[in-house]
Amino acid sequence: MFWDLEKRCLELHRSQSKGKMSLERYRAKRDFAKTPESAGEVESGGGSRFVVQKHQASHLHYDFRLEMEGVLRSWAVPKGPPLEPGVRRLAVQVEDHPVDYIDFAGEIPGGQYGAGTVEIWDSGEFKLDMQSPDRLEFALKGKKLSGDYVLIHTDGKNWLLLKRKAG
Ligand code: MN
Repeated sequence: MFWDLEKRCLELHRSQSKGKMSLERYRAKRDFAKTPESAGEVESGGGSRFVVQKHQASHLHYDFRLEMEGVLRSWAVPKGPPLEPGVRRLAVQVEDHPVDYIDFAGEIPGGQYGAGTVEIWDSGEFKLDMQSPDRLEFALKGKKLSGDYVLIHTDGKNWLLLKRKAG
């Protein structure tokens, strides 16, 4: 029983790491006849860009996205990414987004998933230093965000995003 569950989790994780399964989740939530968002495809190859999209939906949050394995791995950060070390911010993992979502800014119409205004709050490049299922360490080079950051999985969809002290 436990073994079956563990096997299923592994299969899910594998299909997610290929990206396809996770874009199905993205697509299932949206009606592309009504939203200006991209229907997107999983792209091949890596990338090294990040974006933070300020999303004024029913609740204001900041969507933090890293280009990895042909998709944008994504977290909703209610209070926004920390600018200084010593500040921990809750980051709730959400469905992977297509890579071309990285340029998206605009209005998601009322009645659609995530209805509200999206603007690009910051963007740039990142360098991945360490990756495990529960931890990502990376350096950001953006206009507002720069330096060493870490995402730590705590439980369920919850992660913590923090900036590390320089040096
Ligand atoms: Mn959002």
